[in-house]
Amino acid sequence: MSELAIVTIDGPSGVGKSSVSRQVAAALDYSYLDTGAMYRAVAVFVGDSGVDDRNEQAVVRALAALRLTLAPGKGGDTRFLVNGLDVTCRLRSPEISLASSRVSAFAPVRQKLGLMQRRIGEAGRVVAEGRDMGTVVFPDAAHKFFLDAHPEIRARRRALQLQAQSANGAVVDEAEILRQTMLRDRQDSERPIASLRPADTAMIIDTSAMTQEQVVDLILDRVRMAERLIRDKQALK
Ligand code: C5P
Repeated sequence: MSELAIVTIDGPSGVGKSSVSRQVAAALDYSYLDTGAMYRAVAVFVGDSGVDDRNEQAVVRALAALRLTLAPGKGGDTRFLVNGLDVTCRLRSPEISLASSRVSAFAPVRQKLGLMQRRIGEAGRVVAEGRDMGTVVFPDAAHKFFLDAHPEIRARRRALQLQAQSANGAVVDEAEILRQTMLRDRQDSERPIASLRPADTAMIIDTSAMTQEQVVDLILDRVRMAERLIRDKQALK
């Protein structure tokens, strides 16, 4: 395996990064780092602290009291603890989605989480998923991918997912999901730091017309081929 055995998978919200990253990590026997969940945990903390998440100074002041811990859960999943309290089940609400996008635009928030992410990546064998994994946090990662898909398709996938999860068959407002998807795209792409963009050397995969399995297979093929080339080169030395 190459020296910095890190696979970065970046891309906009709702493109299916989490499911793909989880499967790629399992197939390679790497650990999976969900950095979006870390920003979501910060948003939960900020909300619980009664702080306005649009007020950078107040968020930064509150940040000093945040102790974020990632702990292994049952079945290999990760639990996110905020000052000792497990907030994992609160991370996925639409309010936290938008709030996490807002707090993630603040440099001190990114510095704090970036430091944690690099520490986790130090040992290698990690699939790191987010917005700036290949560009900022792990610029030397061996394998970089950027997933993309049309906003309408991402909103449709999310609506179907929510529909499937809803026990009472509640109607899902797809137009509202599309509106929020586009809002987050704009916030994540237009911010001055760590804006959403592919790393120069990333393989860009448009998943609009692909199944999840096809995306996973493409990434695994690419990683394995690159690893083979590296091994062959080392053997020739
Ligand atoms: O990926 P997910 O949708 O869970 O991320 C939530 C929010 O956290 C994103 O909208 C984005 O603003 C932010 N984020 C980020 N950098 C990352 C991962 C997520 O800014 N590496």
